[in-house]
Amino acid sequence: MKPIYLDNAATTPLDEEVLDEMMRFFKQDYGNASSIHRLGQRAREAVEKAREIIAGFLNCSPSEIVFTGSATESDNLAILGVRKGHIITTNIEHPAVFNACSHLEKMGFEVDFCPVSKLGIVEVEEIKKKIKENTVLVSVMYANNEIGAIQPILELGEFLKDKDIYFHTDAVQAVNFLDCDVKKLNVDLMTLSAHKIYGPKGIGALYVKQGVELNPVLFGGPQEKGLRPGTENVPLIVGFGKAIELIEKHKKNIPFIKKLRDKLIDSILIQIPNSELNGSKEQRLPNNVNVSFKGAEGEAIVIALDQKGIACSTGSACSSGSLEPSHVLSALGNKGHGSLRLTLGRNNTEKEIDKVLEILPEVIKDLRKVSGHS
Ligand code: PLP
Repeated sequence: MKPIYLDNAATTPLDEEVLDEMMRFFKQDYGNASSIHRLGQRAREAVEKAREIIAGFLNCSPSEIVFTGSATESDNLAILGVRKGHIITTNIEHPAVFNACSHLEKMGFEVDFCPVSKLGIVEVEEIKKKIKENTVLVSVMYANNEIGAIQPILELGEFLKDKDIYFHTDAVQAVNFLDCDVKKLNVDLMTLSAHKIYGPKGIGALYVKQGVELNPVLFGGPQEKGLRPGTENVPLIVGFGKAIELIEKHKKNIPFIKKLRDKLIDSILIQIPNSELNGSKEQRLPNNVNVSFKGAEGEAIVIALDQKGIACSTGSACSSGSLEPSHVLSALGNKGHGSLRLTLGRNNTEKEIDKVLEILPEVIKDLRKVSGHS
């Protein structure tokens, strides 16, 4: 039986149209985009076309897009590639930013990890307070991957635009739903990933505003203007471009996804006693549900739901498999382990959500019985 897939923040299924577009570059047009012959030139054309599509989506110049091997790599390039000085970030960032900043701290850089509100949102005033003479970079994610909390990127960009401070945002979870116009947002660096938008895994991009001085973290050939050496992954880049192109087509489904999200949240909170929504209900991605259940462990819930044909997660895919409480939930003051993340996607139906609402209360009841919390 096809599982009910509610783990779209971890990864999305590959869109058929994306796969079709990629196949030609696996099969016929397999040239190296740096080769002079026609096969190579066809590959180069395809890479540049994808770059143009992504630049159009972000409202920037194609020359400002750097293809990388993942969003993790893009985040690392943005954080590790800056000049020496003071860095400000938040304590709810994805590990790709959080751990890159921690690494710099260990290397002697000054880093401030800003706290967030109980609803998981960083206050602009908190960032302002932390700015120092030697601040070189502010990195705040656009939307959180665990609790879907949307951060005040527009306001931060407005504040930082006239300062000699680079502003980076990890927009990986935002791309499907929020306006990613880099000019409107006044960001200097923006991270994207293809596999969260129905594209292939293993391909990311970093928007680098013209004039931003960035040092590479990998060394090799001249590809991507030396910022990301290594042969361009042509099929994956083509798939990334197509996935971005399809976002517009699917925008009309967002209200439906939001309706299903609200149905899940409202029904869970009513049907299951001692359940609590993590994060803000209003400043939240349209596809994110993250709920804690007193007396039921997140991992146990996920395993029980999986056995009943529902694929979901406890939080970040990177932290699943460990019983450590998530740093994001800890930042909200939630000390428990019992958090369940359901993230909707383009393919979910109302029938599936009704099925989840039938199964979940029973699962929680059974787990509470075992843990003595019934
Ligand atoms: N940043 C955010 C906000 C994410 O959600 C993820 C993936 O979970 C990443 C970065 C890392 O993306 P990738 O898998 O492309 O390295």
